[in-house]
Amino acid sequence: LNNNTQTKYKSTCSYCGVGCGVEITKIDNGKIYVEGDKDHPSSKGMLCSKGMNLHYTVNDKSDRLLYPEMRFNRNMPLQRVSWDTALDRTAAIFKAIIQKYGPDAVGFYVSGQCSTEEYYVINKLIKGFIGSNNIDTNSRLCMSSAVVGYKLTLGEDSVPVCYDDIELADCFFVTGANPAWCHPIIWRRVEAHKQANPDVKIIVIDPRKTQTAAQADLHLQLNPGTDIVLTNIIGRILIENNWIDQDFITNHTDGFEAYREQVFSRTLTEAANICGLAESDILLAAQYIHESKGFLSMWTMGLNQSVVGVNKNLSLIDLHLITGRIGKEGNGPFSLTGQPNAMGGREVGGLANMLPAHRDLLNPAHRDEVQAFWGGTKISDKPGFTATEMFQALADGRMKAIWIVTTNPMVSLPDLNMVEKGLQNAKFVVVQDISNRSDTVKYADVVLPAAAWAEKESVFTNSERRITFLPKVVDAPGEALDDTEIIKRFAQKMGFGESFNYQNNSEIYDEHCLSTKGTNIDITGLDYDILKEKRSVQWPYTDNQTSGFGTRRLFTDSKFYTLNSRAKIHAVPDENLSEKLSEDFPLILTTGRIRDQWHTMTKTGKVNKLNQHIAQPYVEIHPKDAQKRGIIEGQVIEIESIRGKNQVKVKITEDIKEGVCFMPMHFGKILGNAFGRTNSLTNTLVDARSKEPDFKFSAVQIRTY
Ligand code: SF4
Repeated sequence: LNNNTQTKYKSTCSYCGVGCGVEITKIDNGKIYVEGDKDHPSSKGMLCSKGMNLHYTVNDKSDRLLYPEMRFNRNMPLQRVSWDTALDRTAAIFKAIIQKYGPDAVGFYVSGQCSTEEYYVINKLIKGFIGSNNIDTNSRLCMSSAVVGYKLTLGEDSVPVCYDDIELADCFFVTGANPAWCHPIIWRRVEAHKQANPDVKIIVIDPRKTQTAAQADLHLQLNPGTDIVLTNIIGRILIENNWIDQDFITNHTDGFEAYREQVFSRTLTEAANICGLAESDILLAAQYIHESKGFLSMWTMGLNQSVVGVNKNLSLIDLHLITGRIGKEGNGPFSLTGQPNAMGGREVGGLANMLPAHRDLLNPAHRDEVQAFWGGTKISDKPGFTATEMFQALADGRMKAIWIVTTNPMVSLPDLNMVEKGLQNAKFVVVQDISNRSDTVKYADVVLPAAAWAEKESVFTNSERRITFLPKVVDAPGEALDDTEIIKRFAQKMGFGESFNYQNNSEIYDEHCLSTKGTNIDITGLDYDILKEKRSVQWPYTDNQTSGFGTRRLFTDSKFYTLNSRAKIHAVPDENLSEKLSEDFPLILTTGRIRDQWHTMTKTGKVNKLNQHIAQPYVEIHPKDAQKRGIIEGQVIEIESIRGKNQVKVKITEDIKEGVCFMPMHFGKILGNAFGRTNSLTNTLVDARSKEPDFKFSAVQIRTY
């Protein structure tokens, strides 16, 4: 408290999975401003451009949804109604659809920006009481390949490292990621560490020369889709030179012989040709790994968003397992989480194939445990529709109703023409959000206004398993409600009220913690009071653990979460199964983020300072591809895939490989006739195991317009 005019609160940034600590100052007029929290162990007072401007998104209420709205048919405009009217009608339609078509005709599509409590109650409602597993999340679009990769190798979806390993590492293997723009505060720690220790080596693997690649000691600008060829051949070089940890392999892993056979199936020359790299550069990467004391790999969407995303993860984690570089200071495979609470959503099992506390939906014992815990209906053994499947099911009539919470699929999902068809074909669409800037709102039959960041109490888990409490600082505007309150009221109208009779979010969190008892992610020692006192804790944190701040690093005893406690090395085939290029569509389109925008820009797009960086969509192409097509810098061109076409400005640059083009993923709105939405072009191929889409490889053509 400062002269009774300002109150300070500690919280966490609501954008990316870095999870930086923020200090919010509330002024008497109800406005807030945000600074970095110097005491937060993840970020130590630093914030990137998005975090520094976070308060604008709270202070500017001009786009906020203020009242429930509803329309009685698709030809009518949305009209303001009371909460009871909106939820009574929603409950009546859900009941009617469930009665006529069964519970799998309805579903929830949620978000890595939902809090742990929100994820928990929605998951409990649909799986434990409605009786369907149709809940999936936009985290499916970013982290699900890493989740499966961790489970298949380490036995659990578990990030083994902590951020403090950055300062203990001396070889960074950054692949399929641009943390300088997308995880800036983690990258600042890497930069500062390199500056203080010039011998630290940074290897960046990316078809684009990004801001991250520009700072690399070694940039491997490989051909898109050849990541596994590269990691496998590095594995071969490590084995050939005896740069592996044979004791670790023998005592703590299975699968090495099959791996060895797989990686020896290609020569270095073959691999270098496929990847489009110099043999000497690949040898140097292996040498850097060998010579380091701390080998930290970092990756995100470039590996995950692939039709072979799980295999890409496995082949990378293999490098840590054959060298024994895991569970030790400064060493380990570190997936950089995209969203602020993607990890919390996985903890509560808020995906179509999961149950609370990382339990497996296909495991009958796990289903029985959860069913007994919730005391609801029998949990179905049929996995629900995943993100892209949900909208395909709406399009072809297998699903009739969808409830979309805190996400904007009409920009973020692949093949937006298919998504639009799904939303138009659905009998009933509910959109629960904070902003009328979401492109999905216009497809809604019912719009439910929700409280935003800093307007409700909640908990997030960041990339390093760090759980942080987020306080309520200001009231939500108009009649907007906490998302958990909306779900509770709906559950009551559906007749499940007794099981959703929580007095506050603290009670929901307590129930979630109890559900983790005895699991690998046990957090039974936590509650709101402890989180408020300690500020943040890394899971696991059991009820025996009354001191400290949780578990910094996993697998320090080399015992893994598999049944036999041994990690599994996988022999991974290196073929890419992406869309085939053709004469009509000869270029590879890859998509990604830009520095100052977040997701579909519903929040960052209203901050002038952030729009000053890059305000318009564009396509980046190589000079030779531009020359072949007679295209000049800044020209508006047509870009087309088999699914749709856009008009967009060209940026010609040698930073991208010939034959590849790049578009930022954020843009959705059709702006006049000149620009179009990126994901109209992308394809719906998904990884067979993770169901994560192949955003990084769509076949397109570019021509003058
Ligand atoms: Fe927020 Fe991520 Fe920036 Fe940190 S790095 S301030 S969490 S957007």
